[in-house]
Amino acid sequence: MLKRALDQAYRIWSGDLRVFGAPAMDEFVASRVRVEQIDNVLRFTSATMMANIFNSLVLVVAEWGTEIAPQVHLWAFALITSCMFLYLRRRSAAVAPKPKTASPRVIRRSAVYALVIGILWALAPILFFEQSSYQAQLVIICLCTGMVCGGAFALATIPIASIAFTSPIVVGFAIAVLQMQQPIYLLVAALTLVYSFVLVRAVATHTLQLVQRVIAQLESEQAAHTDSLTNLPNRVAFREGVTAALSRLTRYGEGFGLLYIDIDDFKSVNDRFGHAAGDQLLIQAADRMKACTRDVDLVARLSGDEFAIIAASVKEPGQVLVVAERLVRAFSSPFFIAGEKVTSRISVGIAIAPSDGIDTETLLKKADMALYSSKRDRRGLFQFFQPQLDELAQQKRAMEKELRQAIANGELEIAYQPFIRLSDAQVSGFEALVRWNHPERGPISPAEFIPISENTGLIQEIGEFVLGESLRTAAKWPDHLRVAVNFSPMQLRSMSIVALISGLLRDSGVAPSRLEVEITESAAIVENDLAISILKAIRALGVRVALDDFGTGYSSLNYLRKLPLDRIKLDRAFTSDMVEHPDCASIVKAVITLAYDLGLAVTAEGVETEEQRNFLTGIGCEEAQGYLIARPGNAKAALAFVREAQAMAA
Ligand code: C2E
Ligand code: MG
Ligand code: MG
Repeated sequence: MLKRALDQAYRIWSGDLRVFGAPAMDEFVASRVRVEQIDNVLRFTSATMMANIFNSLVLVVAEWGTEIAPQVHLWAFALITSCMFLYLRRRSAAVAPKPKTASPRVIRRSAVYALVIGILWALAPILFFEQSSYQAQLVIICLCTGMVCGGAFALATIPIASIAFTSPIVVGFAIAVLQMQQPIYLLVAALTLVYSFVLVRAVATHTLQLVQRVIAQLESEQAAHTDSLTNLPNRVAFREGVTAALSRLTRYGEGFGLLYIDIDDFKSVNDRFGHAAGDQLLIQAADRMKACTRDVDLVARLSGDEFAIIAASVKEPGQVLVVAERLVRAFSSPFFIAGEKVTSRISVGIAIAPSDGIDTETLLKKADMALYSSKRDRRGLFQFFQPQLDELAQQKRAMEKELRQAIANGELEIAYQPFIRLSDAQVSGFEALVRWNHPERGPISPAEFIPISENTGLIQEIGEFVLGESLRTAAKWPDHLRVAVNFSPMQLRSMSIVALISGLLRDSGVAPSRLEVEITESAAIVENDLAISILKAIRALGVRVALDDFGTGYSSLNYLRKLPLDRIKLDRAFTSDMVEHPDCASIVKAVITLAYDLGLAVTAEGVETEEQRNFLTGIGCEEAQGYLIARPGNAKAALAFVREAQAMAA
């Protein structure tokens, strides 16, 4: 029994709130609860100290001129000094911001202060009650009950302090009234006991409510700071992390690295395997990233497939380099998702504080620029921020913005460049080449703006425009002429393109066999099963597929084997070299033979001279395109070209 009581007392003293019915808490929650406990009490401290001083002066007045007045003065002096000390302490603490953590020591210290003041108050009834007049006794009774109730209330959130303050007063008061040995005083003592019991209950309930409130608040804070899919900190938490890292930088000179991470081709994983698989990939990617970092680092998911890491305590960039290398290596092995092997690499952009900046916005912007550049140039790798990126990125961003407007303002146009049959010089069709007529800068080459549109997703809109517009134009041409439209690998990432093509064909009334899709040799197509399936579906509509710029890639023959093709377009480099270089001519001859064996048609690009044209005709090349025949021109020029060719043939 005694052991249990001692055990309980020890638990109360050590701040264990389970004694009052609170749930078990880990140190993080317990520390936050303590912060709230202290905060609640501190809010009243100044007022309660003032009340203490005022009340002690009331007793001084009540006992004024009596025999015990000197003792009362001494007592009041002790009490007022103690209260002033606590009041001043509180005032100096009020300037500091509210702390995030509080140790059990702080709670115990407040209990000790409460005990000292409580004992001082207990001395009043013990020392003065018996010798006081009836009226002064009334004052002492009022003061004691008031102090017990008020103190219990003011200290309610720290039960141990509340008990430390009220118990001595209750005991002191009990001693005093029992000394009087009169029945009426016994009643007063009984009343005090009941009040104390009620007060202890009220304090316990109050504490319990506080604990529940803190836990609920922590849970909602946690939810607001966590990404529900990966359980990583979210964007809000990440930004707070950056702010915290910056304050460590100013305070202790501790540098840090910011890594922006983007999963390459995440969208295609989503499209290919479905959203559940995409989610799985994100979860596994989060795990890999965490495994690459230390406990002090922060890994966050910002949105979609965008992650970020704060590499803490960085003395030199080499330390961040190690993390980046580890990350890139971690993504070089495939993921296994729902029994499928999925390859997914990452691009990483890095900014370092303080060398790249000492404020959140600058650092985030620079890490983002580095990522942008990393994605464009060297997917699956990392890139540190470099000053020239700033300028380059600004130009690109500006162009991206303008391009968006250009699409809306109808500044994009299409030029048509003819193909001719070399055997009889008849026009066999036109290639549609997009043009951007910038109101100030004049025409901008697609080679410049198509890559930007690919990076931003604008390519979908551009692609749709080019396709629709060129089909509408082709509808006005004689039925035997085809129209070739260039497709970016980005347009072959979702099956919806098949429905789009078939819809536009239907709307324009152009037969599917008159449309040719030109794709370039790119790993994004040949190593992507979805892109190949899409091409097959496009071909199933009756549309033709041509391989553009053939010979510029490094695994051309592999493309011929893997892709569903109808035609190859020999790159301009071959055409220009073949007349002067016999070995080049041999390659061109061999390629043409190979293509015909595979049942593919061949078009030579970039024919600029009569010599080239004659040579190509001589080796049996079927079709040619180039400035010699015609430069790309608008729809009207294309139609005029057709008429002219027809007139010549007639
Ligand atoms: P490409 O598909 O290989 O188109 C041929 C490019 O070579 C065109 O440049 C054309 O004007 C140019 N060309 C044609 N004959 C000759 C010649 O005899 N000599 C020389 N030196 N050049 C010749 P352009 O129009 O600047 O297009 C560049 C590239 O931009 C295209 O190469 C194509 O890959 C891309 N592109 C153009 N329009 C589109 C489009 O609508 N969508 C997509 N995704 N890409 C497009
Ligand atoms: Mg082309
Ligand atoms: Mg080409």
